[in-house]
Amino acid sequence: MKKLFAVIGDPIGHSMSPFMHNDLFSFYKMDAYYHPFQVKLENLEAAVKGFKAIDVAGLNVTVPHKSSIIPFLDGIDELAREIGAVNTVVNEDGKLVGYNTDGPGFLEGIKLYVSSLNNKNVLIIGAGGAARAIYFTFLKNGPESVDVCNRTFEKAQKLVEESRTSVSTKAFSLEEASQRLPEYDIIVQTTAIGMYPNVFDQPLSPSNVKKDALVCDIIYNPLDTKFLIVAKKNGAKVQNGIDMFVYQGALAFEKWTGQLPDVERMKQNVLKQLGGTKC
Ligand code: NAP
Repeated sequence: MKKLFAVIGDPIGHSMSPFMHNDLFSFYKMDAYYHPFQVKLENLEAAVKGFKAIDVAGLNVTVPHKSSIIPFLDGIDELAREIGAVNTVVNEDGKLVGYNTDGPGFLEGIKLYVSSLNNKNVLIIGAGGAARAIYFTFLKNGPESVDVCNRTFEKAQKLVEESRTSVSTKAFSLEEASQRLPEYDIIVQTTAIGMYPNVFDQPLSPSNVKKDALVCDIIYNPLDTKFLIVAKKNGAKVQNGIDMFVYQGALAFEKWTGQLPDVERMKQNVLKQLGGTKC
């Protein structure tokens, strides 16, 4: 029987995941189908029970359910527990187990530009859900330091206090972080600032970045945010959010099927859907 995979969120119409995963099922000749379901928060528990009852093979979970779904799962892996969010669910012998591939997906993506995190000083801008996933993943992968700055300083401070790590980690306001930008080898913009239609906005100006620093923006609409344009103009290497999106999907696909998919194929498909070219 055809296996069912699904993505749940609210709203969900914009999701590119169905297109990306259905193309892979067809490419690898797998008898499977991926469908988007809009699930209201008040119906989340019933929806998860329903998916379990019909033996769903796997789920992706998106906004606003990444944290709320945790109590309704049968288990959750260590990284997802630390992050406090699940974006991938695997049906393991009838038990629904939650994982987070957002952080690992981001890290896989930057391997295209950075071969090792040894001696690297990292700054994360933002302290929301995506920032948490990237922060805890960095901490497990041995950089020199990982700092966080956020509009609401207390949220960055809380994140740093939650970490139990030997890696150096500090919280800053956006203003303090702006002064310190030349210290960082990798800077990751994780807020929604600069996303379409507010394409002229940026959380801070990366005009004083270290030459050859890697500056990432996890936004992919537009592909070239104002933040990346300014960073590039000032000598940085830049990466938009497409690689993170594609790799989080590739790692989810691998968890469901055991097959690490053709990531370049996925990327070209997503770019085709967005109607653009990479930064
Ligand atoms: P979230 O949990 O709501 O966090 C939002 C963050 O943005 C917070 O740090 C918030 O600061 C900050 N922020 C909001 N408005 C701001 C403003 N006017 N000025 C400065 N900072 C502001 O959101 P999220 O789930 O982390 O998602 C953030 C972005 O990442 C979205 O654009 C999403 O599409 C993107 N994303 C991309 C991928 C990918 O695969 N590429 C994956 C996940 C998410 P405060 O704490 O001060 O409110």
